Amino acid sequence: MAEMFYEADANPSLLLGKKVAVIGYGSQGHAHALNLADSGVEVVVGLREGSSSVVKAKDAGLTTMSVSDASAWADVVMLLAPDTAQKKIYDEEIAPNLKDGDALLFAHGFNIRYEQIQPAPGIDVAMVAPKGPGHLLRRTYAEGGGIPSLIAVHQDATTNARELALSYAHHIGSTKAGVLETTFSEETETDLFGEQTVLCGGLSALVTAGFETLVEAGYQPESAYFECLHELKLIVDLLYQDGLSGMWFSVSETAEWGGLKIGPRVISSGVKAEMKKVLDEIRSGQFADEWIAENENGQKHFNELRSAAANHPIEEVGRQLRNMMPFLANSSNIRDVSGG
Ligand code: NDP
Ligand code: MG
Ligand code: MG
Repeated sequence: MAEMFYEADANPSLLLGKKVAVIGYGSQGHAHALNLADSGVEVVVGLREGSSSVVKAKDAGLTTMSVSDASAWADVVMLLAPDTAQKKIYDEEIAPNLKDGDALLFAHGFNIRYEQIQPAPGIDVAMVAPKGPGHLLRRTYAEGGGIPSLIAVHQDATTNARELALSYAHHIGSTKAGVLETTFSEETETDLFGEQTVLCGGLSALVTAGFETLVEAGYQPESAYFECLHELKLIVDLLYQDGLSGMWFSVSETAEWGGLKIGPRVISSGVKAEMKKVLDEIRSGQFADEWIAENENGQKHFNELRSAAANHPIEEVGRQLRNMMPFLANSSNIRDVSGG
């Protein structure tokens, strides 16, 4: 088992002696800023000119500054703007305002792993990456709990970078749940791999293929939707609660036999071979280069893929069926929370 860090392992006073700037007030930004402030840490929120978040942050009792002023004021800068915006913000507004001994923190390793951001050698560079959406990070903290975080150190100019990251993790609530040390490479590569092949990409492709197969064979789209999409929640809840064996225990014996026997025919060795290629592309930087180029190109191909997915028949039938399930309405705030 890897070493885990909990409440007693952190040095809370380390961060209490520092001024912390949280750049951005989105999903992660609002949660970090509010949790730190409630923990007694001196924090300001750095926002761009004319940002609509200024009012939100002020209403929540926080102090706001421009990104440049916040970076100049702070000892510790946590960069929580979208990954694709971070390089420009860092180069233009943060880097000129950092001094030796300051710390730059991230919640995801992309820009360091792929060398988009290259901080000066006198700066500590570390990661505190909560393993969950920002709204959950805030809510769990407010309820007296925490969600787990990964920490990592990329550059340790002061020799305190790791202790600082752990102290920060403590003040956002993560040492209540458990903190695991990783590296920027491991966090970035496993995160990208997981979201592409299993969690978001693999799952949506599996669901869509199942839906299409049934509909093309003449079954009702409603029936295909319930079977291939709606019912997934039950299965995922079982996995979350009790692992794969918990799921096998709960389903019927017929489902267990059919699933064990047929599953590997669908997700066959060819799929795993493709997963290995995807992992190679992540590790070589090919995926990152393509994603950076896509952004420089105005996200044209991205928008095509998005609208094709949004216009798939599974979405139309799903909308109609979900409209008849008013109890799902209060999960609509999911749309406020971008994925990690
Ligand atoms: P969001 O998309 O929610 O961030 C939006 C915030 O960034 C807004 O306050 C926005 O400003 C600000 N912003 C956007 N562009 C600029 C800019 N050019 N200059 C200044 N500020 C800007 O980001 P997330 O919270 O999703 O992600 C932040 C980091 O956390 C990323 O590194 C991500 O990978 C990581 N992460 C995210 C998770 C999540 O739950 N979403 C989970 C774990 C890690 P304005 O208010 O003016 O619009
Ligand atoms: Mg069934
Ligand atoms: Mg991710």
